[in-house]
Amino acid sequence: MGGVVFLLLAAGFAAAGLRLSWETLPQDRYTEVVWWSPASWMFAGLFGFAGLYLVVTGGIWKRDSRFQPMSSEQLVAAVQNAAVPFCVCLDCMLFLPYEVSVGRCPRCESSGSCLEVHNGADRKTALNAIPPGR
Ligand SMILES: [Zn+2]
Repeated sequence: MGGVVFLLLAAGFAAAGLRLSWETLPQDRYTEVVWWSPASWMFAGLFGFAGLYLVVTGGIWKRDSRFQPMSSEQLVAAVQNAAVPFCVCLDCMLFLPYEVSVGRCPRCESSGSCLEVHNGADRKTALNAIPPGR
């Protein structure tokens, strides 16, 4: 989310820089323009890069690629082999490390279809609940 905020800030500074470049200002505000126009562009570039960096490395895209939906067979194999505790989202067909979900699926935001697996009985319940052939 931080990355998106930075990108919005960058857009804001870019808009300010544009306005200052195009606006014809009175003579006594000349130094202000000389200072603020490049400064605005600099901030726009800075926040733009920071925002892009955050979005690419720590943001939305990475989160989505980390949690790819699995086929039934893959999910069953993951549930059978993984060490407890972990979570499984039956709507998304996702295997979730316990520390990223804690009872709520980060992809669909549902807690109802997100099963927590703490022991062998939970594991059996999860395995039975996984719909076959998906
Ligand atoms: Zn889900």
